[in-house]
Amino acid sequence: MNPTLELEKTIYLMNQLEEMPAPQVAMAGRSNVGKSSLINCLAGRKSLAKISATPGKTRSLNFYRVKPDEFYLVDLPGYGYARCSMSEREKWGKLIDAYLRNNHWLRAVAVLLDSRLTPQKIDLELVSYLQGAGIPMIPVLTKIDKTKQKDCAQRQRQWQNILGSENLPLLCSAKTGMGRDALWRAMREAAGA
Ligand code: GDP
Repeated sequence: MNPTLELEKTIYLMNQLEEMPAPQVAMAGRSNVGKSSLINCLAGRKSLAKISATPGKTRSLNFYRVKPDEFYLVDLPGYGYARCSMSEREKWGKLIDAYLRNNHWLRAVAVLLDSRLTPQKIDLELVSYLQGAGIPMIPVLTKIDKTKQKDCAQRQRQWQNILGSENLPLLCSAKTGMGRDALWRAMREAAGA
């Protein structure tokens, strides 16, 4: 049986951040990478996280309590949406940074990467930020139902070369449910559950 997810807290502004005293695994990715869909897939529910018809709409940081394991899955605001203003992008960057920095409850960040795209600058920036901060990563290639198997394998190796041999990305599809159990396993293990 997979765990269940319950939305416990939503944060829009930096000054709303407070310590959430339980292990945390965050989930980050470019806007439109399929993060909301994957959260719904993990939860086995259709509309727990809002799937954006308009990319870049999810601007909040959401704490989902994972039961019965008692850790948080933290949905970080999608980054890199081109069509929003610089000041707005800066605000999101600061919120993400304020959350990630010196958070001793944070065990890992699942980094969502679009399986259809070659490594993008903005993803590489997040990866180097996490590496610099010594935060473990769970790399995940999304939307693999849209990518040929051969291309997926190639993309996986490409990311592994960047991330290091211990970081082979998981292959996931929110549409087919592929990779769901493996992602749960990786997150529970990271959280120490
Ligand atoms: P977010 O902005 O990262 O939260 O992305 P969303 O979950 O809102 O998804 C963005 C778009 O990609 C939506 O149109 C989804 O239906 C689509 N999508 C998300 N995951 C998948 C997937 O695994 N397979 C396919 N084919 N489409 C997906």
